[in-house]
Amino acid sequence: MPTNGVGSGLAGEHQVRLIRGVPVVFPESKKPFSPQLALMSQAISALSTGRCALLESPTGTGKTLALLCSVLSWQEHDFVTGGSLLRSTTAGAAAGEQKPKAKRRRVFFMSRTHSQLTQVVHEMKRFKALGAAMTIIGSRQQYCVNSELEQSKSKSDDCKQLLSSSGCKFHSSHASMKHLMSPRVWDIEDLVTTGRDRNKCPYFAARAMVPESDLVFGPYNYVIDPVIRGDMDIKLKNAVLVFDEGHNILETAMDALSANVPLQALKDVVAEVRGLAACALFITHGY
Ligand code: SF4
Repeated sequence: MPTNGVGSGLAGEHQVRLIRGVPVVFPESKKPFSPQLALMSQAISALSTGRCALLESPTGTGKTLALLCSVLSWQEHDFVTGGSLLRSTTAGAAAGEQKPKAKRRRVFFMSRTHSQLTQVVHEMKRFKALGAAMTIIGSRQQYCVNSELEQSKSKSDDCKQLLSSSGCKFHSSHASMKHLMSPRVWDIEDLVTTGRDRNKCPYFAARAMVPESDLVFGPYNYVIDPVIRGDMDIKLKNAVLVFDEGHNILETAMDALSANVPLQALKDVVAEVRGLAACALFITHGY
């Protein structure tokens, strides 16, 4: 039963429960288990108070679905009740400033790998349509539709090479793809199929959709690694950041800030520093 305050895209024919004052939409065929209700309640509490939450629930209790339902329902509720608008007005409220435009608070929903992400989006497809605009950030390896690079071991390098030389016929018209995808819930395969059918690059389309998306899916490293985050122009300020299966985050964080340096390269550096030190000594003593 749709409830007042829930966007038509999310609610549809799904069942709705009021949790901490927020109408939470749950896919029609599912009745939430009690661990799911507990998780959703804690998630909504953290979202409403702007706090961090570390949520744990036993395997097989439907954590991901509960997390999606609570976060998306809270986002919708925050939007329709003007929560984000109120916060942004208070934050930058100089007299005479233009009224801020109401928009949904952006949610970054991150998983460790793309295959985990596929499962998350599969859960999302239980919702008929989204009130929010979505995108899935991924690599050229997943998204590239140029058959010239089919056998490429590094589509990222080869795409850059191609764009700086002869170009790629799929690249120029990617921007219009967002109109082809919204408002349905789509996964990487859907975007690749649409890109192939329409001769448009899904990789650049998914990237271009980030600034206009209310819901961004991606692997952890796109927000954890400062280089990738900067490259993708991902802004986390005022956003909701969800790490699904968050126990994997440590490994991703270590990878992001680690580098593999061959032993010979380290030996070369030591030799060079020694050479420079000898040179400095020579100058100091004025030989
Ligand atoms: S622009 Fe897109 S389709 Fe073309 S090579 Fe790069 S990733 Fe592949």
